[in-house]
Amino acid sequence: MNFKLFLTFVAALDVFMGVNLWRLSAGLRVDVLDIGQGDAILLTTPEQHHILIDGGPDATVLTELGEVLPPAFRDLDLVVLTHPHLDHLAGLVPVLERFEVGALLVSGAAYDSEAYEYFLDQVQGFDGPVYFAEADTDFRVGSVTLDVLYPFSNEVGQSFEEPNNSSVVIKAEWGEESVLLMGDAEKEVEAELLAAWEEGEIDLEADVLKAGHHGSDSSSTPEFLEAVSAEWMLISCGEGNSYGHPRQVTLDKAAALGMTVFRTDTEGRISVVFGADGGFYSWIRSIFAPRERSFSSKRS
Ligand SMILES: [Zn+2]
Repeated sequence: MNFKLFLTFVAALDVFMGVNLWRLSAGLRVDVLDIGQGDAILLTTPEQHHILIDGGPDATVLTELGEVLPPAFRDLDLVVLTHPHLDHLAGLVPVLERFEVGALLVSGAAYDSEAYEYFLDQVQGFDGPVYFAEADTDFRVGSVTLDVLYPFSNEVGQSFEEPNNSSVVIKAEWGEESVLLMGDAEKEVEAELLAAWEEGEIDLEADVLKAGHHGSDSSSTPEFLEAVSAEWMLISCGEGNSYGHPRQVTLDKAAALGMTVFRTDTEGRISVVFGADGGFYSWIRSIFAPRERSFSSKRS
């Protein structure tokens, strides 16, 4: 090997290593997918585990996943349905048909709709663990912890006057960094969470907040936003949606607290990657590990 070739080889190796080091040092990634009026959020752990929270109102989520996931990738470690409304549920039906899904996390709330009934049939026939959300059950996926904050106890078979308030609320934590994912939880749930926070039972603070209910004025009370004290607010809603989401009053509240707001209706897909914060993380779990070992519940 002559010297010039050797240099080229070293440079190529460097680029290769650089790319891989970047992959290793990149933290939790959050993609709020551009699916129109609804929610579909993909979390990617630094070890390349994938967690999909809600599927949006239709099959658009498949196109979005196709663009965010590696080519021909068909594995999702965990799929979550926050609550049974169509703008969160409908896209999960084709996802469950086309993806290898490791486990499901659902609220299990009762709700009368054909689509939900179909989804529950899929859940019943699902070949893997199904978890019903409750605050005691948290998940570890690679180096990311999914702390289920709400519901406090499981909602299986329970019906809700306001199904938004059956939403599963999850705080995803990676090292010191965190994102709080509210589903469509409204101010009643926020008040319950605030009370638990004031009792010191939960930690509401997060760096990034995915606002509840598409930025509607039914959610995001000033007290709640203040407690979360996030730097960024992410809002998932459709361009020109008929609900008037997000409400100006929500944007004003966020601005008053100095939060930077990102919206899918004006900006399309929002991707957030948490940088390495100097902490040390083991890289034992990887996409090459057997999937059943790739995450575990604190409860057995
Ligand atoms: Zn919704």
